[in-house]
Amino acid sequence: MQRIKKVCVYCASSDQIDEKYFKATEDLAKALVKNNTTVVYGGGARGLMGRLADTVIKENGRIIGIMPHFMKEVEFHHKDVNEFIFTADMHERKKQFMVGVDALITLPGGCGTLEELMEAITLKRLGIFTKPILILNTDGYYDDLLKMLDKSIEKGFLGEKHREIWTIFEDPCKVLEVIHNSPVWSKDAINFAQVSSSNNLNKM
Ligand code: AMP
Repeated sequence: MQRIKKVCVYCASSDQIDEKYFKATEDLAKALVKNNTTVVYGGGARGLMGRLADTVIKENGRIIGIMPHFMKEVEFHHKDVNEFIFTADMHERKKQFMVGVDALITLPGGCGTLEELMEAITLKRLGIFTKPILILNTDGYYDDLLKMLDKSIEKGFLGEKHREIWTIFEDPCKVLEVIHNSPVWSKDAINFAQVSSSNNLNKM
């Protein structure tokens, strides 16, 4: 089995959330460090981003923050991460998140996290990004979003095959197993990116 060397984690900047989300983040960080997996993330010091970085550092793992310059200027950055990459803007940052990673992992989050996840799904649909995209559905946080994605498929806005773009999981300790078991995806996805009668079995 190929070792998972590097992953990117998308997650919340907010502190005003239930402890269960912090606990799940901590468990995920520990599982990644135990496997010697480098973590790439948004570089923040607060919320789930902060807990992710604090845990990786405490467990002697490796974490890389990627952040646009303007966020450093307002002191959003975590002071102790191993490495920082500062980007010109938010677009460049999102591009950098995907460079050289073996998987993307989405933890609960707000509009920033949702945007990052949706862009990743869009790029994977087009075959531009091909690695596993995991969604940690802690205590059903993403149930409504997953229902919306189901509806997109049911109504023909996405194809049935597109369901394999993302993988939902509940136990953060099983993150590596989930990555290994995620469906294989390739650049050929461009050939069925368009939902059409020949490649789509959806009800209209
Ligand atoms: P959200 O899920 O809305 O909390 O957004 C997380 C993402 O929002 C990050 O990846 C950033 O794009 C951005 N962001 C918002 N606030 C912060 C912050 N305090 N520090 C770092 N990134 C932030």
